[in-house]
Amino acid sequence: MTLENVLSRIDAEMPAATDRLLDLLRIQSISTDPAYKAECDRAADWLVADLASIGVQAAKRATPGHPMVVGHVDGDGPHVLFYGHYDVQPVDPLDLWDNDPFDPQIEETPNGAVIRGRGSSDDKGQLMTFVEACRAWKAEHGSLPCKITFFFEGEEESGSPSLVPFMEENAEELKSDIALICDTGLFQSKTPAIITSLRGLLGEEITIKAANKDLHSGMFGGVAMNPIRVLTKIIAGLHDESGRVTVPGFYDGVPELPEDLAAQWQALAFDHAAFLGDVDLSVPAGEQDRTPLEMIWSRPTCEVNGITGGYTGEGFKTVLPAQASAKISFRLVGDQDPHKIRENFRAYVESCLPADCTVDYKGHGNSRGSVMATDHPAFEQARVALSDEWPEAAAFAGCGGSIPIAGHFKKILGTDAMLIGFAKDDDQIHSPNEKYDVESFHKGIRSWARILDAMTRA
Ligand SMILES: [Zn+2]
Repeated sequence: MTLENVLSRIDAEMPAATDRLLDLLRIQSISTDPAYKAECDRAADWLVADLASIGVQAAKRATPGHPMVVGHVDGDGPHVLFYGHYDVQPVDPLDLWDNDPFDPQIEETPNGAVIRGRGSSDDKGQLMTFVEACRAWKAEHGSLPCKITFFFEGEEESGSPSLVPFMEENAEELKSDIALICDTGLFQSKTPAIITSLRGLLGEEITIKAANKDLHSGMFGGVAMNPIRVLTKIIAGLHDESGRVTVPGFYDGVPELPEDLAAQWQALAFDHAAFLGDVDLSVPAGEQDRTPLEMIWSRPTCEVNGITGGYTGEGFKTVLPAQASAKISFRLVGDQDPHKIRENFRAYVESCLPADCTVDYKGHGNSRGSVMATDHPAFEQARVALSDEWPEAAAFAGCGGSIPIAGHFKKILGTDAMLIGFAKDDDQIHSPNEKYDVESFHKGIRSWARILDAMTRA
């Protein structure tokens, strides 16, 4: 049938598709470093031209930072928006790369062929899976399967400063029935996964101050309050014996896992021993009545990410520091309200302060968790399509990380987002020797063809 024709064409065109990806990977589009501004521009131009070659009206769109690429093609059926990013992370330390990060190579490894180079997995290779699926479709059918908006960002690796303003200014143009985002991975590197929830993130930095200067512990020790003592007591009180976070009201808005999802996750047989074993650990440290997978995908956390105070250099110094500070982050789920949690956390800190001590706060951003609308028909269509392509049935998976773009689509455009990606755990994204499996690239392209087919046939 016609889908079979598209899939056969994808198989036959793999060498040309790979060459195109290698071409894009040669562009040094490091967004965080101003020295590469022209290269980011060049990557945007490359994508505009490539979209034009499959009949998409595309343009480079200026922002205060690096340009967006937006393309449209008209058609019947659902209106789909596809998002990816063309910028990449810096490549240092350069001496840990086996090859020039911007001279990508196809390399045979014991686990199969890989495309080695910066951006191969995050996110140029993933972005091109969708474009190549569209190219094969166009070649077979003479047109694309439905109305599609292509939306490529060039600042994802440097905090996306222009993304929200651009989405707000162009909201009408960017609205669609569903947003597809390809910037995630396979579950345990083999099971295709559709992300159904993302955690939010709240950052707080606290500095406890006591005396007006550093003091000698022989002169003042035991008499003067030591801010490190206060700080560590605050931190020690953030979790109870069972691993739960003690900030008052912290679990307000945390949903219980629906039974069907819990059963699906159980069936994934997540190997938590291997997960922890990989980092030489063996005992899950979170809420003791939860499975490790629940801890990562559906439960909120509180972690101390950094702690400073007193003398930390070589040797020894008997000092009572004037201040001590910690950076603390919370991963949030469901309807947890970051502002309320910040307030309650600060109230808790103040309740721990002895006389003579004060506290300074520095807030570090906050985003809510998000839960995808899995009752949108595209989710089931994609699940079936992915299960047809991969040896293992696709899973509805949670994601422990925070990917703000999905929330932006919902909040700014009112559009539900579906996150599907084909990266593997060992792709070394953001690190030296980044790679993307040729299998991920090939099956990723075929997956999008199947998903588009399922969505437009429905
Ligand atoms: Zn990415």
